[in-house]
Amino acid sequence: MNIILLAPPAAGKGTQAQFLVSKYHMKHISTGELLRKSLKQDDEISKEIKERMNAGRLVSDEIILDLIAKEIETAKEGVVLDGFPRNRVQAIEYEQLLQKLGQKLDVVLYLSISKEVAKKRMKGRRTCPTCGKIYNMHMEEMLEELCGSCHTSLVSREDDNEETFDLRYETYMRETDPLISFYQEKGLLKQIDASKEKEEVFKKIEQILSTLS
Ligand code: AMP
Repeated sequence: MNIILLAPPAAGKGTQAQFLVSKYHMKHISTGELLRKSLKQDDEISKEIKERMNAGRLVSDEIILDLIAKEIETAKEGVVLDGFPRNRVQAIEYEQLLQKLGQKLDVVLYLSISKEVAKKRMKGRRTCPTCGKIYNMHMEEMLEELCGSCHTSLVSREDDNEETFDLRYETYMRETDPLISFYQEKGLLKQIDASKEKEEVFKKIEQILSTLS
């Protein structure tokens, strides 16, 4: 099964993707994560990617499509796409890629949330730099900022600050929000209220997936 998670920044795409992976054994492809990993190289491209990410702008379609093609071509099982596609060009290129591979897109899960709630989540978001697990300090009772799985100290993402969040949100409204009607017209969109608790959101996702063949 191929799933797209479509949502504003900090709506919980990464968290829901992790639930999907553990229940359905799908491959999780997060373009944001792939980009953050690629930043460890000290070259011109990394510098440009970092500048764009910290300015809340999109990284070029060419870089993203190259990353995605490599990941999808090696995925035998279904994939859950987190953070891709983020504009119309990427959505169309993805359709063509799937066609070439003889596959189809099964569903687009749109996690809807207000800007205010998303911003609050962004402020509490921490990730484990070792295993990638995502936490929220506002929702979990944690005495120390340590990963429950591997005990590494949790970190905040560099772009998780109020100023960059506002820019990311603007970019989302301009470039990504129009994909809602793009997928609605294709009959692929399912909307979920993502302001609810993460377990409740996942229950809704499970219900939706159980209706798909
Ligand atoms: P995310 O981890 O999904 O919040 O993405 C973090 C940042 O990576 C975004 O603000 C963009 O700068 C960049 N990025 C992630 N995915 C894409 C994409 N599909 N197209 C362009 N830029 C992306």
